[in-house]
Amino acid sequence: MPEGPQTLKNRNMKPSFFDLTHDDLKVVLKEKGFSPFGATQIFDWVYRKWIFEPALWSNVSKGAREFLSEHYDMSLLKIVWNGLSKDGTRKFLVKMVDGQTVETVAIPARERLTLCVSSQVGCAVGCTFCHTATQGLKRHLKPGEVVGQYIAVQDWLNKNTLEEKLTNIVYMGQGEPLHNYENMKKATQIFMQENGLALGQRRITLSTSGLVPAIEKLATDFPTVNIAISLHSARNDVRTELMPINKVYDIERLFKAIKQIPLKAHRRITYEYLLAADINDTQEDVDALAKLLNPKESKINLIPFNEYPGSKYKRPTEQKIMWFLDQMIKKGFTCTIRTTKGTDILAACGQLKSEFEKVNLWNKDAGPVVIPSIASSVLQNQSQIPQ
Ligand code: SF4
Repeated sequence: MPEGPQTLKNRNMKPSFFDLTHDDLKVVLKEKGFSPFGATQIFDWVYRKWIFEPALWSNVSKGAREFLSEHYDMSLLKIVWNGLSKDGTRKFLVKMVDGQTVETVAIPARERLTLCVSSQVGCAVGCTFCHTATQGLKRHLKPGEVVGQYIAVQDWLNKNTLEEKLTNIVYMGQGEPLHNYENMKKATQIFMQENGLALGQRRITLSTSGLVPAIEKLATDFPTVNIAISLHSARNDVRTELMPINKVYDIERLFKAIKQIPLKAHRRITYEYLLAADINDTQEDVDALAKLLNPKESKINLIPFNEYPGSKYKRPTEQKIMWFLDQMIKKGFTCTIRTTKGTDILAACGQLKSEFEKVNLWNKDAGPVVIPSIASSVLQNQSQIPQ
């Protein structure tokens, strides 16, 4: 729903506190005549104690608290909808200060709870299997809006669950993270900040569609994190059909850039391989993939296509999926199948946002409007829909 003039007028246009790294905050404090060491205490209040109200930061000088309250926006991104899947996946739609929304998904697996965050509103890459691609690129997210997804969801979990804690982050939501390079770099620094969330490099995975110039830059100035490449085919003609970016940065150029990523730090690179029936699931595809990748330096993650209304591809049969897996294992690869999570809550990237924009899920006067395909989760979670 577009915001009315009244909302726009009242919109808080101060810069977000969550855009600041620890070093940025030190500089801001120093410039204003406050002790830069206050930055450590402030990060401790915000990112460890989850206290976002400066007035409550008892060991921070009154002047610094007042300055930050006056000049920075401490508000969290607004969760406008959330749905819990039968498999424990919880999907959130978060709204930013300009009214744009993005999806973020908390996915439980063994002892982990991984948050899949978005990097852009929409996406310009245009993969033909992706629902987000149909929305085009609206804008890049700022660092605070990326970090803000984590803060808003963890804050929601703190208030609504029994001690569920996010442990890992993947940049695999809406958008191409390397197209938003500088903001994602800063968000990663904030995630990893020792005085703050202190997420280790093995807990963060950056997934890219293969933006070659940005991959070449990764080794020079991006914090060291796990890297996943959306490959989807080892054959140029098929990959170009699935991912038009391959016309510009084909497989040869992509792998030349990948070789520049220091593997000692990143251990093995994960290759995401979306399996679509009769597109990239044949013997020829198995052979091309085995020829392209080195089993010692690669992990393959097979993602059986998750059909959505209007999608042009089909999911292979379970038998075909298992056959593909078996072939890659026999060729010496570490190969896994990503279980489709949250199919009952529009898990395909971008689906929830699209449906939300078609129908206002929560209309204050009329009560929740139920979209048939997500009816069960909405009904299960009515008490969790913000009012
Ligand atoms: S799959 Fe990722 S990179 Fe490709 S269009 Fe969708 S959001 Fe963009």
